[in-house]
Amino acid sequence: MDLQSTIERIYSELKPFALQGKVASYIPALAKVSPNKLAICVHTNDGDVYRVGDVCEPFSIQSISKVFGFTMAYKMLGGEIWKRLGKEPSGNSFNSLVQLEYEQGIPRNPFINAGAIVVSDILLSLYPNPQQELLEFVRRIADEPSIKYNLEVAKSEKDTGYRNAALAYFMKSFGNIQNPVEDVLDFYFLQCSLEMSALCLSKSFQYLANHGVIPSTNEQILTMSQAKRINALMITSGLYNESGDFAYRVGLPAKSGVGGGIVGIFPKKLSLCVWSPPLNEFGNSLAGIEAFERFTTYTGDSVF
Ligand code: GLU
Repeated sequence: MDLQSTIERIYSELKPFALQGKVASYIPALAKVSPNKLAICVHTNDGDVYRVGDVCEPFSIQSISKVFGFTMAYKMLGGEIWKRLGKEPSGNSFNSLVQLEYEQGIPRNPFINAGAIVVSDILLSLYPNPQQELLEFVRRIADEPSIKYNLEVAKSEKDTGYRNAALAYFMKSFGNIQNPVEDVLDFYFLQCSLEMSALCLSKSFQYLANHGVIPSTNEQILTMSQAKRINALMITSGLYNESGDFAYRVGLPAKSGVGGGIVGIFPKKLSLCVWSPPLNEFGNSLAGIEAFERFTTYTGDSVF
């Protein structure tokens, strides 16, 4: 099957979908992004790359960074991490507070904001300089040394991140945040501000498509079992409270971010990134979801 013509076909079919969504504006710096950007990129485990559209333009990866932070923490702590986090879908929006009270400050999973804030706290305790460690990790797995944080986006989110601050203080009251809340939030916002292109994002997820090992370098990032478990978490919780619908329509593990990116993997075969900034009401890229659905439909490849 010709993957290049498949993604070009999808690209040409997507424009009408993007126009129905809205670019994230609750983080003021994100509202400046053009809604017309569109990129699709595929890396196969065999080393082939297929791309169409704005694939080289860095954008704010936002919640996709939760996968990278969690990978670093899980690699160090293994199953111990589940004392601080759950692994169930939340069924609530990504920044919801309600469940945390019932569940004693233990977030449902690492891919909602509360969960990623706990992961930021864990990384602050594990690494002397987690900001630099995370950046270097992402640069390595994406094979792109120019990747950086966008300090304007991080500041913009800090200035307006009242809900995330509420989540962090609330969890602190249950003893599930160990470092000073200000430090944890600063690191969480910085992580969300990472900027990467669709090309880099697709490349950076290859270890999850290849049993925890980067195919081009053979570097083992995670064990086979750990990679399997992160993929399971992505399929159950990777698209906020739209994860069930995404699994039903697409059938691939994936993670989205409010910058309009979605990255997914087909185990043992490929990783795929789509970027289109306009979002639906769940905070997921509208055209991105369409693209993923068409990709598994046209190729006939999904984990189901
Ligand atoms: N930085 C965003 C927030 O905390 C991430 C949300 C997202 O991409 O889903 O609200």
